[in-house]
Amino acid sequence: MAESVELPGRLAILPFRNKVLLPGAIIRIRCTSPSSVKLVEQELWQREEKGIIGILPVRDAAVEAPSAGSTSSAGGGTNLGERSSKTQEETSDSHKLGGKNQQEVIHWHNRGVAARALHLSRGVEKPSGRVTYIVVLEGLCRFSVQELSTRGTYYTARITPLEMAKAEMDQVEQDPDFVALSRQFKATAMELISVLEQKQKTGGRTKVLLETVPVHKLADIFVASFEINFEEQLCMLDSVDVKVRLSKATELVDRHLQSIRVAEKITQKVEGQLSKSQKEFLLRQQMRAIKEELGDNDDEEDDVAALERKMQDAGMPANIWKHAQRELRRLKKMQPQQPGYNSSRVYLELLADLPWQTASEERELDLKAAKERLDIDHYGLAKVKKRIIEYLAVRKLKPDARGPVLCFVGPPGVGKTSLASSIAAALGRKFIRISLGGVKDEADIRGHRRTYIGSMPGRLIDGLKRVGVCNPVMLLDEIDKTGSDVRGDPASALLEVLDPEQNKTFNDHYLNLPFDLSKVIFVATANRVQPIPPALLDRMEVIELPGYTPEEKLRIAMRHLLPRVLDQHGLSFDFLQIPEAMVKLVIQRYTREAGVRNLERNLAALARAAAVRVAERDHAVPLTKDVQRLDSPLLDGRLADEAEVEMEVIPIGVDNHDISNAFRVASPFIVDETMLEKVLGPPKYDDKETAERVATPGVSVGLVWTAFGGEVQFVEATAMGGKGELHLTGQLGDVIKESAQIALTWVRARATELKLTTAVESNLLEGRDVHIHFPAGAVPKDGPSAGVTLVTSLVSLFSQRRVRADTAMTGEMTLRGLVLPVGGVKDKVLAAHRYGIKRVILPERNFKDLAEVPAAVLSSLEILLAKRMEDVLEQAFEGGCPWRQHSKL
Ligand code: ADP
Repeated sequence: MAESVELPGRLAILPFRNKVLLPGAIIRIRCTSPSSVKLVEQELWQREEKGIIGILPVRDAAVEAPSAGSTSSAGGGTNLGERSSKTQEETSDSHKLGGKNQQEVIHWHNRGVAARALHLSRGVEKPSGRVTYIVVLEGLCRFSVQELSTRGTYYTARITPLEMAKAEMDQVEQDPDFVALSRQFKATAMELISVLEQKQKTGGRTKVLLETVPVHKLADIFVASFEINFEEQLCMLDSVDVKVRLSKATELVDRHLQSIRVAEKITQKVEGQLSKSQKEFLLRQQMRAIKEELGDNDDEEDDVAALERKMQDAGMPANIWKHAQRELRRLKKMQPQQPGYNSSRVYLELLADLPWQTASEERELDLKAAKERLDIDHYGLAKVKKRIIEYLAVRKLKPDARGPVLCFVGPPGVGKTSLASSIAAALGRKFIRISLGGVKDEADIRGHRRTYIGSMPGRLIDGLKRVGVCNPVMLLDEIDKTGSDVRGDPASALLEVLDPEQNKTFNDHYLNLPFDLSKVIFVATANRVQPIPPALLDRMEVIELPGYTPEEKLRIAMRHLLPRVLDQHGLSFDFLQIPEAMVKLVIQRYTREAGVRNLERNLAALARAAAVRVAERDHAVPLTKDVQRLDSPLLDGRLADEAEVEMEVIPIGVDNHDISNAFRVASPFIVDETMLEKVLGPPKYDDKETAERVATPGVSVGLVWTAFGGEVQFVEATAMGGKGELHLTGQLGDVIKESAQIALTWVRARATELKLTTAVESNLLEGRDVHIHFPAGAVPKDGPSAGVTLVTSLVSLFSQRRVRADTAMTGEMTLRGLVLPVGGVKDKVLAAHRYGIKRVILPERNFKDLAEVPAAVLSSLEILLAKRMEDVLEQAFEGGCPWRQHSKL
């Protein structure tokens, strides 16, 4: 126990933020900040004798005193910090705690406690090599600060001790007030000790303290042992007068005692309740076991009752309700273990879940807002948007109009689905997408009859159950991908769905009841029109969405995709910036698609890479650096075994700057070419591809139309020794095979004119076979539009002259050499543009289709129109067609 000590006139000061060390208390602290480490090193570690330092509480600027009176009531404590802030200019700048970036004034308390180090240990942190100290301090006596100044990195203070002299103390002890107060304090303290001993079943060592230690010191020791708030700690520190100190300590000890008692009561109550609920649980378990044994099952009964309630609330039409009740009665008669019970239940659940009446409230359609919405969500597509607005306008004027079903046709990723969802948003209706890709079984649309094992409702009814309203916008996605086989024809079921006459009473086989689909707004999407059965096509209005030009893609990426991708990855432009030039490179080198789906994927890959970096950097921010809360000192510990109290010293004025630096958002990542390659890999496409592939005679560049939009298709021909046969490879359909035959015949017939053979009578295929291959051999190909490309490739082969690498062509050819028009011109021209092709040969009669091609694309291409095959050859070869060249000579 601390005996009277002689304090020096000046003490090194260790600040305690929002924490007070009282005399007699023992505390263990870890010093990590440079200033506190320096202080410990110089004042305690390097000294021979046991050093004494001053512990001075400081009030964090964030912790404002609740009232002026609370700190000064007992001993008239004032705040030194406020005083020092006035004299800041004369004193050192260390008074401005927290550095330049922290403007708040930190309030030093003007009273502290001198403390002696009982134990010191030094540690070196790895790998930083930072020195830290663990110090066990014992509070000795109070002092008041006369003047605060700095020594190097830490503070020192000129102090006056506040302890009473022995003679003074003897005099106070005679005071009857003091005697009464100390008796009262001891009684309360005794009571507390008894309660704690009872709780912890520890021996009476602490009682000895009461007899041996002077009562005014006991007051401090007791109060230091349990948790009280900072204001009360300060008040205790300021209680220099022993009578004031005793009465304050009695009050605090008593309060602590009461709180222990209340806590005990609560614990007892909770324990009682726990055992009660445990008992109940056991009983319930037993009850359930008995019921199971007897075959009773209350749970099932409850479930059926709940199902019945749900059915009542479902708003079924009268005839459906009658049917449902019949089914329910059957269910009630069944035992849960009986076959058919479950299927009957699942069926009734479906009836209860279907939105028979529930509809999303259709708000008054605001065409202007709808137009704005379409514009916000989608770039360009002016024609498509106009058509959608017309469609919405008709619906507004005549809500039950039986207009055609809109069908968006175009390659993947051009915005078909998102346009449909914008329509739903504009109408204020829910949106549901039903995927029809690969549906070959009629039952997928219409459901299986319930007699089948594992029968289910069809996709439409299932979709309605999921969406929960009877008037959603339903997107029939990839309607061109439905096929028919032995299991029926899904298209005919769809026909019923889309026919306003029939869909009022749509009959799902599983449901076996009519469901009214007339309130649903159907929108369909398809990649191509051709595969859609004509009857179905007849019900729909096709709106074509061609692919985008690179410039359009760039705009879409910058305005729509990038902000959305960043948002999806929890990033913003503050963290990641992808400059326009880089997006352009992604478009040119990493995507060659008609839509923007891969582009979006690639941007997402960049965002993911950036997110990892940002997340890693966040991790490095030392959020909890040296800011640990102080542990609460426990009376039990201090009194029973003199246990040390662990506490962290909060560094002041040294590390704050570092912390705020770490918090500051660093500059954003700006994607450059190196990062692009690192994340997306080496470029996938370049403009040189065509030139490389047509480097040998016999290869020509065609334009074809696939489900993914327009594509460039190379045709390769080669000749070898043989018997004059034609070999074709590349998964070709009948039409394209015939085109190849026609092409070969045409070339053979004109072999002499084209100067491919010298002798008039000689056979071009004499002693040799021809092999034509369409690369990308795994993709099936068909259609007549490769005619001109085939001829060009054969002429190139036989004349051994290379086809121009910058020229692509499309066109059907007749046996007599006429070039016939083909479909998909717009997509094909866009594809040529994407591949960096400069010249496109088209059938003359396709000239009108060029009106649909964006002007920006047209202006960068040379369009050459051909009427006959000779025109094509003239343009396909450098310097014109072989025979013309000959005639020029
Ligand atoms: P689809 O249904 O045609 O396959 P999606 O509707 O799923 O394509 O579109 C793919 C992505 O591209 C979506 O995120 C969509 O928002 C975006 N997108 C497509 N076209 C545009 C456009 N014109 N403006 C803005 N975003 C677009």
